[in-house]
Amino acid sequence: MSFTADLDLAGCAVLVAGAGAGALAPVRSLLDAGALVRVVGHTPVDTVVDLAERGQIGLDRRSPSPVDLHAVHLVVVADPTLDEVVRRWCADLGLPVVGSRRPAAAPGATPGQGSVVLVGGGPGDPGLLTVAGLEAVRSADVVVTDRLAPIGVLDQAPAHAEVVDVAKIPRGSFTPQERINELLVEHARAGKRVVRLKGGDPFVFGRGGEEWQACAEAGIPVEVVPGVSSALAGPALAGVPLTHRTLTQGFTVVSGHLPPGDPGSTLDWGALARSGTTLVVLMGIATLPAITAELVAQGLPATTPALTVTDAGLPAQRSVSATVADIAAVGEAAGVRAPAVTVIGPVAGLAAQLPAPAARPPRPRGGSSAAG
Ligand code: SAH
Repeated sequence: MSFTADLDLAGCAVLVAGAGAGALAPVRSLLDAGALVRVVGHTPVDTVVDLAERGQIGLDRRSPSPVDLHAVHLVVVADPTLDEVVRRWCADLGLPVVGSRRPAAAPGATPGQGSVVLVGGGPGDPGLLTVAGLEAVRSADVVVTDRLAPIGVLDQAPAHAEVVDVAKIPRGSFTPQERINELLVEHARAGKRVVRLKGGDPFVFGRGGEEWQACAEAGIPVEVVPGVSSALAGPALAGVPLTHRTLTQGFTVVSGHLPPGDPGSTLDWGALARSGTTLVVLMGIATLPAITAELVAQGLPATTPALTVTDAGLPAQRSVSATVADIAAVGEAAGVRAPAVTVIGPVAGLAAQLPAPAARPPRPRGGSSAAG
């Protein structure tokens, strides 16, 4: 459902009836179009809950009722079981209503032996999904997706395809990795072409390696479609070149999910502080005060520029800049939340010198439609 291509929905109040996996693509497309989105449905999938907790949508965990149509400009039915009743309410009120209609399966795409395609979806903007990744979604029987994946492209999956949301919300609800592995294997064993749509690149803190191993152990063929990692895309979209001829000859990407000194941490923060490379920290918002303090204690100059970018590639993208000594406090004061990437090094100072990168215009996508 590519609303951006057809309608100007900026500032329009849109009710999405249904909070299951079918709501993911329309909600993402509506947010990308600047609509004010409220989702009503009794069993929301984790990614919908996550968007609500991040303040990007309103969510009511109950069945929709006619009062929900008050002061709404458009209604989107995201659950086929609600289609008839919601359309009747809308007809009574003269309200426009659309349902999501996904394309029919490509001819000849009948399942034979099942397989799994590990697709890196990029940082969230559907335009940053590769052509191969989009083709995989278009030929899927099952899409197993994540909250950081470009869920706006789920409307490109064939009509028969099942969409399974296995979002892992930091410190919140999640599907254990073992269960995700099992799901991939179970569906593939049933002869399905399973697309595992992940955020960024599958093998950059994406647990794609474990999924691959699980499939290999079960004898399931695996294809890999690399993706644009947020480690690269986040800084780039915030105006930071990770390398720059006069400033640095490399970059190092680390996970910040464990703070320095944690018994489980295997990183040598002293070596990182002295590496002379740009440092890129993923999953490091809660631990950023400890990480930056340790880097400075280990010799990184406290005046080293730093930048944190959140929601890179999405309409909510924003970034804050400071010195490495101050970035955690400045980010916290600005309300910075995950998902975010922090980049530390002289290149982070270039963001202030370069003009802000122009926003990529929304890209109309062929083959998508808002069915009336
Ligand atoms: N495989 C992913 C990373 C998964 S780990 C990739 O290659 O991008 C999850 C972390 O990725 C988040 O905590 C955050 O640090 C980063 N991240 C993912 N998407 C992001 C986005 N759109 N903006 C900023 N950071 C993002």
